Amino acid sequence: MNGTDHRVEAGPPGTTADRPPGARTCSPGELDALAAELAASLGDRVRRAAPAGPLTTYRVGGPIGVLVRVGEPGHVEALADAVGHHDPPLLVIGRGSNLLVSDEGFAGLAVVLDGRFSEVDAGRDDGIVTAGGAVPLPMLARRAAAAGRGGLEFYVGIPGTVGGAVRMNAGGHGRETREVLVRAWVADLRSGGGARPLDPAALGLGYRSSILGPSAIVLGAELATEPCRPDTCEARLAEIVRWRRDHQPGGANAGSVFRNPPGDSAGRLIDACGLKGLRRGGAFVSPKHANFIQADDDATAADVVAVVRAVRAAVADATGVDLEPELRLVGFGADGVPGGEGAGG
Ligand SMILES: Cc1cc2nc3c(=O)[nH]c(=O)nc-3n(C[C@H](O)[C@H](O)[C@H](O)COP(=O)(O)OP(=O)(O)OC[C@H]3O[C@@H](n4cnc5c(N)ncnc54)[C@H](O)[C@@H]3O)c2cc1C
Repeated sequence: MNGTDHRVEAGPPGTTADRPPGARTCSPGELDALAAELAASLGDRVRRAAPAGPLTTYRVGGPIGVLVRVGEPGHVEALADAVGHHDPPLLVIGRGSNLLVSDEGFAGLAVVLDGRFSEVDAGRDDGIVTAGGAVPLPMLARRAAAAGRGGLEFYVGIPGTVGGAVRMNAGGHGRETREVLVRAWVADLRSGGGARPLDPAALGLGYRSSILGPSAIVLGAELATEPCRPDTCEARLAEIVRWRRDHQPGGANAGSVFRNPPGDSAGRLIDACGLKGLRRGGAFVSPKHANFIQADDDATAADVVAVVRAVRAAVADATGVDLEPELRLVGFGADGVPGGEGAGG
């Protein structure tokens, strides 16, 4: 596939240092060859040109070159072998609740976890809850609460997966992933696919960020909890769900689009600039929460990006603050909104 210089610097597997940013794509023939090799070992877990829409909460985006569902460690190793042979751009997709895939799609290999990576164990004597990378965060919060394990309630309002939460250091309601994470099990698709345990310091968890790069897959996590009466935990869950319903819009969106600038809130700045309701095609700034951009049923990814760009430019003009997207942009290439992941995921 397209040759690319990708010097490996010291650090945990699959860190952002493992290849330079920028658009890399595979040709259709290269994707066919990759899909064929993977199908030989993973069968109908492999799909060619699956639409991105159903894989993301924005429900937009073009075809995914090769999509593979992996359900056990052996699948990850098979995937790593194929990655070694073909060197495609990589993208791990959780619930797609922080992703915008371009209308042209992603000309590389995307991975979704399921099977054994969907399991939760909230019954350990040491109070540590283990969860596979594919586990939906609201389900994790509810399973822990039902088992009398508190501290993970904040996840009930975040519609991502455990893997996505580790990668993004997801948080809310006064807590974030690095405060509860004991260790994550991370495989590197460019280094054989074996899982390694990494603690929060090794993952470099910061504000909605980590040092994990596109070739790193979070297969599972161990999370610290404290004892909590199930009815007390359930009341906290209900309170958080109520707050979300009151303050955030429904429909197709990906949560907060921009990171909060130091000492301020992106939503407050956008609102103060009078941008609620700003529309481009089928996408618009939510009238309910200014840092959410919503997509109508007929919206395109280009519409969403047009709103991102318009908001960013208007806020910069009015306040001098350059808002940085938290939303991960996939397949937009070098001229995508800065902060995006380019075609390299
Ligand atoms: C209504 C709504 C409310 C939200 N509220 C919050 C909030 O309060 N706080 C918050 O932090 N976020 C919030 N989000 C954003 C989003 O849910 C989080 O960023 C979440 O962590 C993303 O998880 P995901 O599984 O959907 O990841 P995706 O969106 O699929 O991917 C996001 C990034 O994580 C990577 N990734 C996903 N899974 C894995 C894995 N297993 N291994 C390695 N990398 C992986 C992807 O490659 C990508 O870079 C909200 C989103 C919505 C739609």
